[in-house]
Amino acid sequence: MRLIDSHVNLHAAQFAGDASAVLVRAREAGVQRMVTICDRMENALTVAEIAQREPDIHASIGAHPHYAKDHTWLTAHDLLAGLTPRTAGIGETGLDLHYRYSPLEDQLAVFRSHIQAARESGLPLIVHTREADAETAQVLTEEYAKGPFRILLHCYTSGGELAARALALGAVISFSGILTFKNAHDVRAVAAQTPLDRVILETDCPYLAPAPFRGRRCEPIMVREVYQAFAALRGLEEAEVAERVWSNFHRLFRSIPE
Ligand SMILES: [Zn+2]
Repeated sequence: MRLIDSHVNLHAAQFAGDASAVLVRAREAGVQRMVTICDRMENALTVAEIAQREPDIHASIGAHPHYAKDHTWLTAHDLLAGLTPRTAGIGETGLDLHYRYSPLEDQLAVFRSHIQAARESGLPLIVHTREADAETAQVLTEEYAKGPFRILLHCYTSGGELAARALALGAVISFSGILTFKNAHDVRAVAAQTPLDRVILETDCPYLAPAPFRGRRCEPIMVREVYQAFAALRGLEEAEVAERVWSNFHRLFRSIPE
């Protein structure tokens, strides 16, 4: 089976000591594509260098909503200026009202800059949304009306209504190891209903290790447990899930060769 981990944070300090061993393990388990995510513009170069070095890893560029307050200066032009041939997506960006590390108005402004960059580049917008269903749906809908862009809702934890509204805009939804968490009934309910041509999977490592690894550092090899959980939920063979995710991923991340 050829697996994909569509959202990894390989520049994180948790991987500083053994990143190459982590990648060897993942590849031996069949992980053939990864997208490593930029969380702050000051890390854009480091993230781009990982993608430059590793042929099966592409990069994103952007600023996480947690750090929006440090990126109020960020324009679409700045994001576009940072693109490299190995940049596959814009983000992660979005709205996080769970932690609220940045004021909502800063998160909104920075989110809109990313949307503009996604619209102009044609690269998918990698959206993080937590406890901000209505606000995220509103921004995506308003902005989409101004001109289309490609949407990925990553590490989905929101409700069915945001999912439906985003799917109507052509979005793809990515589910993480949260699918395996005992209490994640709502996430599984959305995953059970998402059209199979709109689903991809991820770990969001080093965070959110799936069961039975909860509490440990997550790494890309653990995406296997996410595939297993999704396959079980939908009553599918893992190999079929793997093929669908493979084609959905490449239809979304068009700049990544199959
Ligand atoms: Zn995120």
